[in-house]
This record gives sequence, C-alpha cells and structure tokens, in this order.
Amino acid sequence: MFTLPPLPFAPEALEPHIDTQTMQIHHGKHHQAYVDNLNKLLPDKTEADLVNILANIESLPEGIRQGVKNHGGGHANHSLFWSLLSPTPSIPSPSLLSSITSTFGGLDAFKEQFTTKAMSVFGSGWTFLVKKPDGTLALKRHSFQNSPLMQGNTPLLALDVWEHAYYLKYQNRRAEYITAFWNVVNWSEVSRLFELSS
Ligand code: MN
Repeated sequence: MFTLPPLPFAPEALEPHIDTQTMQIHHGKHHQAYVDNLNKLLPDKTEADLVNILANIESLPEGIRQGVKNHGGGHANHSLFWSLLSPTPSIPSPSLLSSITSTFGGLDAFKEQFTTKAMSVFGSGWTFLVKKPDGTLALKRHSFQNSPLMQGNTPLLALDVWEHAYYLKYQNRRAEYITAFWNVVNWSEVSRLFELSS
C-alpha cells in the first residue's frame, strides 16, 4: 500500500510564491491520484519498495511498466518535491555549494542554467539536479513523470513544470513561476540529500 505523505508545511505557507489553491489541488488531487493508481497497479507493494521498483523499472512486466512509470514516478517525484520546498529561507551546505560551484560556476550560474533547462521542457515534465553514479552533478530534463531513479541517478533538487503546478496563479508565465520557486527552495533538504548520497 502506497500512501500520500502529508505536506511538510501548511498549504498557504508558500504564499505568495506558490498559491494555496494550487498547493491544495496539486497535493490533494494530483498527487493523490498518482498514489491511488499506483496502488491499483502494485497492490502488494509498499512505500519501502518504491525506490527499488523505479530503479529496476525495465524488469517489470510490460503490461504494467508504463503505468508504474507514470504513477510510481509521479508519486516519487511529488513526495520529493514537497520535501524540497519550505517557507523558511535556507542556503546550500558548504560541500554542496562547493560542488555546485565547480560544476556550474557558482550558485547564481547554477540557478540560471537550471532555469534555462526548466524553460526548455516541452509539454509536461520536470527539471532535476541529480547526482550521477560517478558522483558528479548534472541537470536533467524529464518528460511526464519519469524519475531520475529510473536512470540510476539520485535526484537532489526537483521542479515540477507541468502546467498543473503553476497555471492557476501564473497561467502561461512559467518563467515567473520558476523565479518564485527560488524563494521557497529548501536548501537544507537539498544539502541533506547531497551528503546522504556521498
Ligand atoms: Mn505535479
């Protein structure tokens, strides 16, 4: 049984950057639907199995593989996304900042490159900062709900750029949504995931 994790903050906590109604619908309806559909596809599996299922997605029977990509990926991506948002300002840890700087040329340069990547997602998808198996950082653009775990990468930062993530407040103005996102990134959690994967 897979379950919807509670939001780690009140739905209105990210105002004005991410609005209350978007948070309520995104978490309570969209994420809940991924969880419900995943439970129909894998009724005997539990939350503890999710990472392994996604990491070995190609070993699933063909009849359910795409469904699990969509709904298992959707469940994992959204659970991660909520944990990476916070109303409390924070900064990257020294070791994460050092790695970001050596890879992207500094935190501001990283934000610019991440933003460019997120702007270039065509249709529904995500942008991720990942740590690759060789320990290096990289920016990734994923369509639909494909998870970095399916490629053997560890996601450290995620941004949902499906229209359901921003359309109520920002309509077609994805760039404004991305600018607002930087105000609510939980760098403490990104740093924790980075240390954990080291
Ligand atoms: Mn979403």
